[in-house]
Amino acid sequence: MKILRTVAEVRAWRAIAGRVGLVPTMGALHPGHRSLVERAVRDTGTAIASIFVNPTQFAPNEDFSAYPRREEADFALLERANAAAAFVPSVEEMYPPGETTRVDPGPIAAPLEGAARPGHFVGVATVVAKLFEIVDPNVAYFGQKDFQQLRVVQAMARERYPRIKVVGCPIVRELDGLAMSSRNAYLTIDERHDALVLSHGLRAAQELWQNGERDPERLRGEVREVVGSVPRVSLEYVSAADPVTLTELRAPAPRAVVSIAARVGKARLIDNELLGVEISELS
Ligand code: AMP
Repeated sequence: MKILRTVAEVRAWRAIAGRVGLVPTMGALHPGHRSLVERAVRDTGTAIASIFVNPTQFAPNEDFSAYPRREEADFALLERANAAAAFVPSVEEMYPPGETTRVDPGPIAAPLEGAARPGHFVGVATVVAKLFEIVDPNVAYFGQKDFQQLRVVQAMARERYPRIKVVGCPIVRELDGLAMSSRNAYLTIDERHDALVLSHGLRAAQELWQNGERDPERLRGEVREVVGSVPRVSLEYVSAADPVTLTELRAPAPRAVVSIAARVGKARLIDNELLGVEISELS
């Protein structure tokens, strides 16, 4: 696997690489990331993963400095997944001193994580646009775990990078249901146990849905009740939204995305479940 640290190195590699699948990450890689790389290898033959903790998507009070960084273990995981290259730029390489322009992600970025983390998706859209321009992939892979991020990137690609296909990949979970996340590393053993209630809440909503419930307020209420049973989990929001526009559902609908954000100890965790639609049907 080639380890590329500069834009010039990526461009030289890209010029002779053929069809390429890009997997953007912030590192501290786990089997969720690995599933994206494996899909990229399967689809395109040549996967490049980026590892970059992007400062512009963190607010000053967030965990940019504390975010786990473990380059050697990440390279080992990427090698095992048969990635052809890792792009591991410095902050200066991605944001040359004096460069201040940013990408506006549009209305899809306004609710949910965009409301809870002002400016977050400007940082995401900006760094993904840079990665698209540097790597020029044929396909880029993003996880459903960050569902709104996937939709932000799909909208941006449709409008600004129509030759790049953006593929959403299902959430990889631990055996007990906890969605895999680099931020799970912040949890103590007890907190990790408490955090299970997020996936339990989503599963309860899914069961209601399978029994025919379509009232979005009932779905939200069910998740709130389940998650509320663990007082050490502090719920930030529960949403049942249209999976295309991400606007909150006010009336029964044939498909929905139910999303949660909650704090557990030092970690801020998010999770979601698609109802009545598969991730592969959204583009
Ligand atoms: P991150 O390193 O957290 O920025 O994530 C990089 C990519 O991996 C994003 O597209 C995430 O949605 C995706 N990802 C993170 N966790 C998971 C998971 N548990 N299952 C599937 N994809 C994931």
